[in-house]
Amino acid sequence: MKGFAMLCIGKVGWIEKERPACGPLDAIVRPLAIAPCTSDIHTVWEGAIGDRHNMILGHEAVGEVVETGALVRDFKPGDRVIVPAITPDWNAPESQRGYSMHSGGMLAGWKFSNFKDGVFGEYFHVNDADGNLALLPEGVDIAEATMLSDMVPTGFHGVELADVQFGDDVVVIGIGPVGLMAVAGAALRGAANLFAVGSRPNCVAAARGYGATDIINYRDGSIVEQVMEKTHGRGVDRVVIAGGDVNTMREAVIMLKPGGCIGNVNYLGSGDSIGIPRIDWGCGMGHKTIRGGLMPGGRVRMEKLAELVRLGRLDLAPLLTHRFTGFDKIEDALTLMHEKPRDLIKPVVVME
Ligand code: NDP
Ligand code: ZN
Repeated sequence: MKGFAMLCIGKVGWIEKERPACGPLDAIVRPLAIAPCTSDIHTVWEGAIGDRHNMILGHEAVGEVVETGALVRDFKPGDRVIVPAITPDWNAPESQRGYSMHSGGMLAGWKFSNFKDGVFGEYFHVNDADGNLALLPEGVDIAEATMLSDMVPTGFHGVELADVQFGDDVVVIGIGPVGLMAVAGAALRGAANLFAVGSRPNCVAAARGYGATDIINYRDGSIVEQVMEKTHGRGVDRVVIAGGDVNTMREAVIMLKPGGCIGNVNYLGSGDSIGIPRIDWGCGMGHKTIRGGLMPGGRVRMEKLAELVRLGRLDLAPLLTHRFTGFDKIEDALTLMHEKPRDLIKPVVVME
């Protein structure tokens, strides 16, 4: 079969591989629609998780099941499924402790395009199919549903990590597709003032659509000063980090009230450490909580999130700015993600 792969750090290309084999608990799926991710860019061009050779990329897909293992109960060939980016081993000790995304080791629930071939192949392998696939609900568009693989669960996880409560003032730093889903999630959870930090005009428009009350452009000066001015010096209850640079964690700590919480879902692609400002962290005693996490996968969560889309409580159409048709367009879509033109939010490729 054909796949679009990371050949080594900084290099991508088409390769030929054997079609993956199906174990008793697994499924083999063919993609119906895929989306490249900013994480693919960190992986290939920043070498953020180390070198990988001839590894098929991609972890965001909706697909059709073509084969299931003898012990798979709930899926059969022909089913149309949402494939989560994170596919844990559900019987691992980490999963039993509530951290399935780290089943088998830190970040090891993230298998596609990390420890095994991803979804940019003609076929791909899904471990523990009953635990990791979700049926695509009737009436949900397959291109939009690719956003349920990673963008929705990651953005929403940022909101969960920051523990947004009714009436909280919230800052979402970064309003690419992940941050936009954090804005949507914070609004669903009842945020009061909802400040969205970004600059691309169509991201700004989408952020307003998803419920941002104020836009903060980091290109116009310090985001700390802008947030402090808008909150009359009080700061905010919650910060979700879904983008930024080396200063972002520092800025988030400064703008947070004592007792507040930061939820980071940004993939920190380079550098050895991140700074926490000592005084603004209350010299270590400020009750300013910092959390960071990989999105949880799992069928139950995916089905719940898909239900929000099916019922029209979450509209994913504004995320999809660039649509391609045909398997061989995966290369163009990934190139676009790498170049990040200013009118891009998210590209998607629908197979013919
Ligand atoms: P994008 O690159 O599309 O968005 C990044 C956002 O950050 C943009 O809004 C950008 O603004 C903003 N930004 C850039 N520089 C600054 C700055 N100095 N200060 C404040 N804001 C800034 O990324 P995605 O939405 O696709 O992904 C966000 C992150 O989430 C990535 O690191 C990705 O790898 C990670 N991720 C994490 C996952 C997880 O499970 N934890 C899963 C999936 C992704 P502008 O409008 O100017 O472009
Ligand atoms: Zn992704």
